[in-house]
Amino acid sequence: MRVLLVEDDALLADALRIALSEAAHQVDVVADGELADQALRDVNYDLMVLDIGLPKMNGRDVLRRLRQRHAGTPVLVLSALERIEDRVDLLNLGADDFLQKPFHLGELDARVKALLRRAHRHANNELELGRIKLDIDGRRCFVDQVAMDLTAREFAVVELLLLRAGRVVTRSQILDLLYGWEDSQATNTVEVLIYRLRKKLDFSGWHLKTIRGMGYLLEAYRG
Ligand code: CA
Repeated sequence: MRVLLVEDDALLADALRIALSEAAHQVDVVADGELADQALRDVNYDLMVLDIGLPKMNGRDVLRRLRQRHAGTPVLVLSALERIEDRVDLLNLGADDFLQKPFHLGELDARVKALLRRAHRHANNELELGRIKLDIDGRRCFVDQVAMDLTAREFAVVELLLLRAGRVVTRSQILDLLYGWEDSQATNTVEVLIYRLRKKLDFSGWHLKTIRGMGYLLEAYRG
């Protein structure tokens, strides 16, 4: 994914650029609001990570101008703002999420992933891979138009696998996804879930392959 990072603190910008690059994003970094505004006009970014206190034009104005152009680019705001009024103001301007400084890079990673997932979902309410079809809004999965019996958790994992079709989905990505479901701390949750999904997907034309030490991959059966 192509990410615009807007941050005038050079040290922080560098750390964030490295973290985002490690998550396999292509990152452009700018250090003032005018450059950010220009970059947003020139390039169709998948996500913007935006500081608020910036030279030349503040982050609030960058965001306002972006939304005035009716651009749906997801925006993650980095901010030291603690007042709820400031956050409400930014949400009203079209911010999608916040990270309060100082933050852990792991949290940045998780929030970026969540925003990108959400953006994909909004772009298209159906996902299709061969004979598998997902109705994202209805939370239903079909193989050859026959509805499959999936739990909410299983559905979420199938959705992730389809969004990342052709690429490995790591165990920690699945754990991130399941975080929040109350019994997700159980260490064998992922393995059990994958085991059940593998059986359920058995007739779909796709095999859920374990890539040792990495994660899982949806692979087409070779006929
Ligand atoms: Ca700043």
